[in-house]
Amino acid sequence: DLQRLIGRRQRVLGGAYRLFYREPVHLVRGEGARLWDAEGREYIDMYNNVASLGHCHPAVVAAVTEQMSRLNTHTRYVHETIVDYTERLLETFPAHIDRAMYMCTGSEANDLAIRVARQYTGHRGIIVTAEAYHGTSDLTSGASPALGSGQPLAPEVRTVAAPDTYREGDAAGARFAADVRAAIADLDEHGYGVAGLLVDSILSSDGVLPGPRGMLSDAAAAVRAGGGVVIADEVQPGFGRTGETFWGFDRHRLDPEIVTLGKPMGNGMPVSGLVARGDVLAAFSDHLPYFNTFGGNPVSMAAASAVLRTLQEERLMQHSARVGEELLERLSMLALTHPLVGDVRGAGLFIGFELVSDRDTKEPATVAALRVLEELRRRGVLTSVAGPHGNVLKLRPPLAFQSSDIDPVIDALDEALSVVEH
Ligand code: PMP
Repeated sequence: DLQRLIGRRQRVLGGAYRLFYREPVHLVRGEGARLWDAEGREYIDMYNNVASLGHCHPAVVAAVTEQMSRLNTHTRYVHETIVDYTERLLETFPAHIDRAMYMCTGSEANDLAIRVARQYTGHRGIIVTAEAYHGTSDLTSGASPALGSGQPLAPEVRTVAAPDTYREGDAAGARFAADVRAAIADLDEHGYGVAGLLVDSILSSDGVLPGPRGMLSDAAAAVRAGGGVVIADEVQPGFGRTGETFWGFDRHRLDPEIVTLGKPMGNGMPVSGLVARGDVLAAFSDHLPYFNTFGGNPVSMAAASAVLRTLQEERLMQHSARVGEELLERLSMLALTHPLVGDVRGAGLFIGFELVSDRDTKEPATVAALRVLEELRRRGVLTSVAGPHGNVLKLRPPLAFQSSDIDPVIDALDEALSVVEH
């Protein structure tokens, strides 16, 4: 049973893995935006942007099965899938982003992005937001303040509070740009200089902060004026999720030199990538080889190809915009009857639902948010929280989420909020 399985797990797995929920969920099957546990209970998945097309999407299953039964090998031999895919992937970017490389995780993509930015600029400094998460390698965890006090930031890393229009209003973008300028000055003073601003265009672990369009563009200009580049971490917002634009950075007119990709890219196959302006990447590639045993292998590329094709053929970006807007509207209506709800914000199917104990002071309702999560889970809705205070419900379902799924989610949330409010 579940308790025995958890016990066995604890005896053999490293303790750093954290599970969701006080009573962990034992999942055995997924389809579309639905998951089932070992006891046959059905859940709506409101969290998983990895299975972005939907769990076990048949196009990806077929592509992976076909390629895996024919050939899989590493990137030191010529194979066609990687070239075909890259040509199609680069078409989704502005023309000057014209080179790609592949890895298996977002961490590896960001790790390489930092190395490329440093090589190209000759500077060392990296600026990130104050609750950012960019990865698990030494370089990226040293640039991930979300990991907390146990993980010291690298000396060349500076953090800047993410622009939060709920608390700062319209001034958020300008304040952020001013703080970025101060961070650049500090990096210069320490002899590091600024190599890059590494930022996700919907600031996810900072509390799901989409901000108004263009919010990050002044900060990006400041970084360039300081001799650095912009690295857009598209691991979460990328591949059509934000609805308005295929890439999140376009919402904020970031015009990045380097873009990192991950999570939804293979719909669950471990595939990630870095795309960049050719001259920026050449500064690295002309001096250093890069080898990644599994990166860009034929099976991963087959999965990524199936994902991109399905996104385009089924117009899932437009779907995300439409259903996301509908969901956002229904969530905003809940705020009218539930005092716990402080703010509802998002772009496409990437929504933050912020809970506060007092709407005037905007005091984060951290404990209430955890209780709401548990109540939602009991009602068949799985999700998680984000933000510096863990009081923002992150609603980011597979793009297979439909209009018809909205009612059950809203009903569950309505009930969960009522239980916690009383
Ligand atoms: N960047 C962002 C914005 C992420 O959310 C994550 C993963 N949570 C990563 C990078 C790291 O990706 P991975 O876990 O695939 O290494």
